[in-house]
Amino acid sequence: MSKEPPKMPRMRNIPKRSYAWAEDLLPDKYILFYKRKTSTATVTCSACGGTYEGRTGYPETLEQQAQRHIEIPYHNTKGQCILCHAVGTYKSEGRCRSEFHPSVGWVTGQKMGDDFVFRAFTTTALTGKCMKTEIQHHEYARIFLRKGKKPEKWYCWTDYWAGKEQPTWHPYNIGGMNNISIIRWHYDPYYRKELDKTWMRYGLLRPSYDPLDYYEALSWHPALEMFQKSGMTELEKQVIRGYSIHWNTRSKTPAGLLRIRKDRLKELKDLRGERKYLLAFQAECKSGRRWTSEEIEEHIYLEQFWDKRDKEVMQEVFKHTTIKK
Ligand SMILES: [Zn+2]
Repeated sequence: MSKEPPKMPRMRNIPKRSYAWAEDLLPDKYILFYKRKTSTATVTCSACGGTYEGRTGYPETLEQQAQRHIEIPYHNTKGQCILCHAVGTYKSEGRCRSEFHPSVGWVTGQKMGDDFVFRAFTTTALTGKCMKTEIQHHEYARIFLRKGKKPEKWYCWTDYWAGKEQPTWHPYNIGGMNNISIIRWHYDPYYRKELDKTWMRYGLLRPSYDPLDYYEALSWHPALEMFQKSGMTELEKQVIRGYSIHWNTRSKTPAGLLRIRKDRLKELKDLRGERKYLLAFQAECKSGRRWTSEEIEEHIYLEQFWDKRDKEVMQEVFKHTTIKK
């Protein structure tokens, strides 16, 4: 028997304006299907489902004079329904596909107590030929961010193997379906307001960073903010890319956090936290004594060798000479 997955906490509703914002991202949310004759056209709007006819040219007969005038529809251009005023894309009934289903991926987020949750959606507008559009929002992932903890990712999928028919939440993904690293195109502005209510507002999200990557890294390693602000840009990149820093999270001082000697902190700062130096300074700290700059360079040089035997050969060489020779 498979064990029951842990329970998904109760979630707050997403504001209606977020869904409206997402729908507006769709390129062909509504379709205006049309049929043209010489001087008239018939339009069916997928937003309201209504159909109207109008003349598109000058009235030539009395009958036409009584008819309302409408704009001439052109295939794949934007127009407005005269019944409900929705904006849609004109599609010629004779030339268009029988079904439209533009889809968009988006991410929003909410404060949850002291924590934060990112929520990932896809929004799809389904329109059959001359039918009313049906808009569907599907939430497929939630990423829980808790200060100092590894981000927890949940995915929504249907467990057909267990005979289930309704999608349910699982703390793991199967087959990379709806992988959030693939579908993350748009960020709902609402997430920013919610995030600003948490401790993560002090973070330094650079324009080049994906907000999900950044805030996952920041919540897992809250010290990131301090190192960002001290100018250790190389260290910052390592944390965001997910390299292990071997933090000592019990320490409160910057040098202690990084497991390096206190007298190396300024040097590492000047090197912007470059990884090879960080690792060398950590090895130095572990050895219990201060190394010469030559020893540091030798350590960095040796670290390039993946093969243990190569390393030993080079270590032997260093016994007789130094890197500068
Ligand atoms: Zn309409």
